[in-house]
Amino acid sequence: MTFKDFNFNEQLTEGLLSMGYKTPTAIQQSAIPVVMEGKDVIACAQTGTGKTASYLLPVLNLIGEHPNHQIKALILAPTRELAQQIDQQVEGLAYFTEISSQAIFGGGDGIAYEQQRRGIDNKVDILIATPGRLISFLASGSLKLNHLQYLILDEADRMLDMGFQEDIMRIISHLPAKRQTLLFSATMPGKIRQLARTILNEPEQINIAISQPASGINQQIYKVHDEQKTKLLVSILKSGAFNSIIIFSSTKDRVKSLNKELKSAGLKVDAFHSDIKQSEREDILLDFKNKTLPIIIGTDALSRGIDVEGIDLVVNYDVPPDPEDYIHRIGRTARAATTGTAITFVNQRDFRRFQSIQQLIDREIEEVTLPPEFGEAPKFKADANNRPRRGRGNNRNNNRNRKPGSGPKQQAKGQ
Ligand code: AMP
Repeated sequence: MTFKDFNFNEQLTEGLLSMGYKTPTAIQQSAIPVVMEGKDVIACAQTGTGKTASYLLPVLNLIGEHPNHQIKALILAPTRELAQQIDQQVEGLAYFTEISSQAIFGGGDGIAYEQQRRGIDNKVDILIATPGRLISFLASGSLKLNHLQYLILDEADRMLDMGFQEDIMRIISHLPAKRQTLLFSATMPGKIRQLARTILNEPEQINIAISQPASGINQQIYKVHDEQKTKLLVSILKSGAFNSIIIFSSTKDRVKSLNKELKSAGLKVDAFHSDIKQSEREDILLDFKNKTLPIIIGTDALSRGIDVEGIDLVVNYDVPPDPEDYIHRIGRTARAATTGTAITFVNQRDFRRFQSIQQLIDREIEEVTLPPEFGEAPKFKADANNRPRRGRGNNRNNNRNRKPGSGPKQQAKGQ
């Protein structure tokens, strides 16, 4: 299947080409025809699969038939970072069309609010919003959504986790009942199905590789004691095997202290967490995107939505508490059919969590033996009941004495 099969209008096809998309991804092949038929959709798809374009392309094509700068599509997203990234994809894909968009999200100052308000006043076809900020615009009476035709909920599971259920229902009460609604979620817990029953009309269900990391990710773990982690991390970062790196840690304090430790080890790195002003966060992300900043460290807030091409390494400094977050974290690398490496440090305390991840992804993750210069690695008692149902990874023993970071990618580079 190619994009030609969808018969998109000329301007949108030009946008697609300029974005460098050649072949539709699996979710795009499944979702685009259904959306174009006018059906509601509930889609289970993780980030990194091309899910954003799977709803943007058909909606842009349909709106492109009569662009009149009234808000016809509303995209709800859990975080400002995701809202901004969706907006950037709209701008790229719609570049050669008459369609305009505006992202509105909280967290900025009064000036940001005013800029967003003016953006809407300038008449847009597509609004991308975080629920809280949209509610305040609706409450002020400065925004009407009575021409709306398409409602899209992106990362619906995360929106519910963040407590946006009531806001979503309030927003929906401002929308025309006759509309097409598309719900995208990385996971499908009962509360999402319940929401879907309330807001979707005979939806078509699309499931793409539920909860599986992209196949291009080379996943590895090191078993370590806490005091071995930073030394090992510095050695991996200095190995020269990776150019664009995200490090995740579960707590803000750990992110801050690790930032200091890595800086004092001479590494060019910045931290990304909720205590940092939005303008600074944007600067850091921009530097990271432009590859002038090679390493960022963040909490799980960073794992959702960050859409930067060419990230070749994700390090989990600790095991994320929620196994789904593991998939989101490592999904920052190997975006859209490229390859990348994901390394996770597992200590005794996190071992059970790590086993839950293996169960979720239904495979055994390759273990790399800690090189002797870092001291002896811990030995964990394996929990027989907690092992993956079918271990597909059979290379646990092939990696003895491997240098940190010397995955297939580095070997390939060295050839
Ligand atoms: P998403 O899953 O929507 O977060 O998309 C992940 C990344 O894949 C983004 O950088 C998109 O620009 C990119 N992408 C989406 N669709 C395609 C495609 N058909 N071909 C190549 N890249 C794509």
